[in-house]
Amino acid sequence: MTGSAFPDMLEVAEACMKCRCGCCKDECPMYSEMLEETISPKGRNILIRGLSKGVLEPDERAMRIAYSCLLCRRDELSCSAKLKNADATEMFREYLLSRGMPLLPEHEMLVKSLENYGNPWQEPKSARKRWVKGLDASKAVPRRTDTLFYVGCTFALDRTLQESPRALVSLMKKAGEGYGLLLEDEVCCGSTVKRLGHSRLYDKLRRENDRRLRSIEAKRIVTACSGCFKTLKQDYPGLTKDVEVLHATEYLDSLVKEGKLRPGPLPMKVTYHDPCHLGRHAEVYDAPRRVLASIPGLELIEMKSSRELARCCGGGAGVKTAYPEISLKVAVRRLKEAERTGAAALVTACPFCVQSLRSAASSTSSKLEVTELSVLLDRAVRDNGGIR
Ligand code: SF4
Ligand code: SF4
Repeated sequence: MTGSAFPDMLEVAEACMKCRCGCCKDECPMYSEMLEETISPKGRNILIRGLSKGVLEPDERAMRIAYSCLLCRRDELSCSAKLKNADATEMFREYLLSRGMPLLPEHEMLVKSLENYGNPWQEPKSARKRWVKGLDASKAVPRRTDTLFYVGCTFALDRTLQESPRALVSLMKKAGEGYGLLLEDEVCCGSTVKRLGHSRLYDKLRRENDRRLRSIEAKRIVTACSGCFKTLKQDYPGLTKDVEVLHATEYLDSLVKEGKLRPGPLPMKVTYHDPCHLGRHAEVYDAPRRVLASIPGLELIEMKSSRELARCCGGGAGVKTAYPEISLKVAVRRLKEAERTGAAALVTACPFCVQSLRSAASSTSSKLEVTELSVLLDRAVRDNGGIR
């Protein structure tokens, strides 16, 4: 199989070869840590072209280069040819697997877990409802649930993150909003395997999840995971024509605007980290900032690189699993940037960013609190906040 079976990937590589400016290099968080030309978008494009033209053969080195990318898109603003290098890299991974290359050994367990359990965390299906323990949580009912809260594997199964879905449920209750959960019937959106280029497993998960989501006939699906949000909104054909897909920050922003949530004072300085899948991929920059601005006494201090220029947390696209040390270095660099603002808390809106930035905080004994936006807002909204 040649690269012509992946025309968009080859088109990006060819366009890059016409330019070869290298402007992308210094913007790439992986290059910043590894300082290897082959890890930069330009280096990867040279490799893609060589393999596509049959000058090179796929090997383990090519796999290592393909999987040394966070798919964060930070290079794309500085690319002279405005190339979609992250999309090309995702295709490159699919291309290498289609040419018979085995997965990186570090990713095998993750993929097996998705095949066997339907989640990347080797947890049984029943564990998906563990986070609701003690909550009076509502199960979604077909044709009777308007707002379906899609929790996603990581918020549901990582015990250290379960305060986030619990806070979102608490906020919905305070706002007087009805909602429904799929609990143990929830299926992985397939984001993890899509980013790894494993199209067969992704298609299987997508079809199953799409059917399950549509069976509720909800008006809107809300998710607090930026990875799930991007996948449902951008990668599920036709889903957004039939149902509105909202990130929790957009949903909370609308509840605040409608006066259903009235935050009380929370005098503190915070900074906000834009998750790549929410920011550069989906261009949701303002909603989380408006939510923060609605909290009296809270001061948002922006980092030097924020919004479109935000540096990645290092947790994306399988890099944390395959290269934990590099991933941690990327996260520490971001954490240090947050510390320089003088804020007491680093707020974000994605479970993977919380995981990575907390690892960075604990490895450097940082005093910065790393938290998620729903948790912070729930702290600020008193129980009667939603009663008008
Ligand atoms: S997507 Fe991110 S990690 Fe990948 S090449 Fe671009 S800047 Fe580097
Ligand atoms: S900036 Fe764009 S065109 Fe220039 S080398 Fe990098 S990827 Fe290629």
